[in-house]
Amino acid sequence: MIKVITTIREAVETINDIKKSGLSVGFVPTMGYFHDGHIELMKRSIKECGETFVSIFVNPIQFAPGEDLARYPRDLERDKTMAASAGVKYLFCPGVSEMYPEGFQTRISAGPLASDFCGASRPGHFDGVCTVVAKLFNIITPDRAYFGMKDYQQLVVIEKMTEDLNMKVKIVRCETVREKDGLAMSSRNSYLSPEERKAAPALKIALEKLELEIIEARASDFKGFDIEKALESHKAFLTGSGFKGVDYLKVASADTLAEARNAGDLRSVDRVFIAAAAFIGRTRLIDNAVFDLDKKKVNGHE
Ligand code: AMP
Repeated sequence: MIKVITTIREAVETINDIKKSGLSVGFVPTMGYFHDGHIELMKRSIKECGETFVSIFVNPIQFAPGEDLARYPRDLERDKTMAASAGVKYLFCPGVSEMYPEGFQTRISAGPLASDFCGASRPGHFDGVCTVVAKLFNIITPDRAYFGMKDYQQLVVIEKMTEDLNMKVKIVRCETVREKDGLAMSSRNSYLSPEERKAAPALKIALEKLELEIIEARASDFKGFDIEKALESHKAFLTGSGFKGVDYLKVASADTLAEARNAGDLRSVDRVFIAAAAFIGRTRLIDNAVFDLDKKKVNGHE
């Protein structure tokens, strides 16, 4: 049986009982409307921890006005069934006023790792993410918390927050789960019309091609490799494949998230992060590739 907890008080009491029995606590924070990406995080936590808590909270303070907060997909009954069949026993689903009661005013300010990519397109987004994740960590006090590589910048920003603020939780990186045609699973894929859904895998195709080009260019020490030109051609591929526009497509260091603007920058990068966000119809999709320049994939490894 899965237990749905809606108050912070009950969550804290339940966690206290679990901790008294000496079990470790794994935690998977989500915004719900589960897909196999979420389920994989839950399964990994269940495998590695004594008890697992999954939270569902569509966090209003990480959405800017005009974004999709109101229409974000929600279906608690479906989520309960999916989480229960994955073996989850505790779902924490607080309401907005439980998390942000009247008078709430404190925010965590994410640093420079949050300034580019989604941080540039969505001002305040990562402050909102850090604030809610810090609150959830304080409530659940997990030993380990599971985050997807699908949201790579978010993962890195949260790792940095836990390091900077001496949070005791261990952040576990989990590989991106994809549909058969390569599209990264996302609750937002439910927004796509059948036609948009058919076109959406182009994002992953562009990332794969660019990854290959970078690995190949590495063999000749990036001599003659023009990042700008490569990015432009992949952006054109995306708009030619049914995307309405590209928010960003950038190459960066996977460690510092500093953008690599030319071959010289790339030479000093060991692990690459190719970050992409693009619009298809009204939907903004993000995806990325993270890889070592010696070709060894780092996805999903601690
Ligand atoms: P969300 O509900 O979209 O906020 O995501 C909750 C957690 O699931 C975050 O750590 C995400 O990075 C992770 N996640 C979302 N989509 C995927 C996916 N396709 N594969 C792996 N993890 C994912």
